[in-house]
Amino acid sequence: MKQAIVELVEGRRDELAGIAEQLFRFPETGLQEHRSAALLADALEREGFRLERGLAGMDTAFRAEYGSGGPAIAILAEMDALPGLGHACGHNIIAAAAVGAAIALRQAVPAGEARIIVLGTPAEELGIGKVELVKAGVFQGVDAAMMVHPSSRRVVIKHYLGLARIRFTFAGRPSHAAAYPEEGINALDGVIQTFNGINALRQQLRQDVRVHGIITDGGVAPNIIPATAGCYFYVRASDLDEVGRVRDRVVACAEGAALATGCRLEVAADERVLAPLKINHTLSALYSEQLAWLGLAEANAPADKNLGSSDIGNVSQVVPTIHPHVPIGAGVHIHTDAFARATVSDQGKQAVVEGATVMALTAAEFFARSDLRKKIRDEFTNS
Ligand SMILES: [Zn+2]
Ligand SMILES: [Zn+2]
Repeated sequence: MKQAIVELVEGRRDELAGIAEQLFRFPETGLQEHRSAALLADALEREGFRLERGLAGMDTAFRAEYGSGGPAIAILAEMDALPGLGHACGHNIIAAAAVGAAIALRQAVPAGEARIIVLGTPAEELGIGKVELVKAGVFQGVDAAMMVHPSSRRVVIKHYLGLARIRFTFAGRPSHAAAYPEEGINALDGVIQTFNGINALRQQLRQDVRVHGIITDGGVAPNIIPATAGCYFYVRASDLDEVGRVRDRVVACAEGAALATGCRLEVAADERVLAPLKINHTLSALYSEQLAWLGLAEANAPADKNLGSSDIGNVSQVVPTIHPHVPIGAGVHIHTDAFARATVSDQGKQAVVEGATVMALTAAEFFARSDLRKKIRDEFTNS
């Protein structure tokens, strides 16, 4: 069966690369992925998948399913692009690889023995899509979840940090900055003191913690003492307890700044917290096994360096999950123009084929080996 899967994906190479290329040509940002979602859902419907369009209150999320019994695997198709940068995170490759894996599996796995589910998961860049899908219970009854992400290197295990988002708005009192400065309450000072407080806090933070922010509103003119000002922070750490602790201390910095400057403070903490990626070593090893069978070498890259966050973390907390990286060009890094172009290069096409093939091989082994499914489940439960 393994050789059949390789040939099935290979036979669709141009079609799958074409999907990645079409998405590249009309990039859509989070929750606006109408054309992209339709393209992917239509392609799966033509292959005999049952379609549910619109999930968890998101028009661009979808579920395509094939099969009626046996273990279920969800293959995730991200599809959103970045504002101004197009597919600089390569979600067009993720989506095309997911479609390719599902089509190959549908043809290779006997009907009735397994359930193949493709989930269209929008708005990854906004950190929303999978958070909402998990909340809506979309992963209930799913035994494992997988997706691939393009990268500069072929890596199977990579950590992702938990992440919380907080917006602060300071309200003061406007005044002429030269003529009546004593009448004003400077909201921008509230923001500046928040940054200063956080910068002092940094020396007491753990190695894995990241706190970074921007000023979203800094006033309108130098001769007007700003009546309002705002800033927006991300807090990240390798576990959610630490994310919560640091978030509280960041909020305290803003509260201290409000007290010191006499401003009123509004705190808006996004309740959609991204969880860190819970690694499943058994399922990861199964993916690695398929790479080795294909003769593809994994990069020697540390799993705990250059870390970001992703809503895949939330999925990994409810079902055994893998998120391996497929290579599209050495030294080409995500969220750059060069990365967007690489998604439609020859190496980008190869990444689509690799992702589809290795996911399908991994899923086929997962379906065939009940002992392994139990091991994966046990590791998930006990870790
Ligand atoms: Zn990204
Ligand atoms: Zn991405």
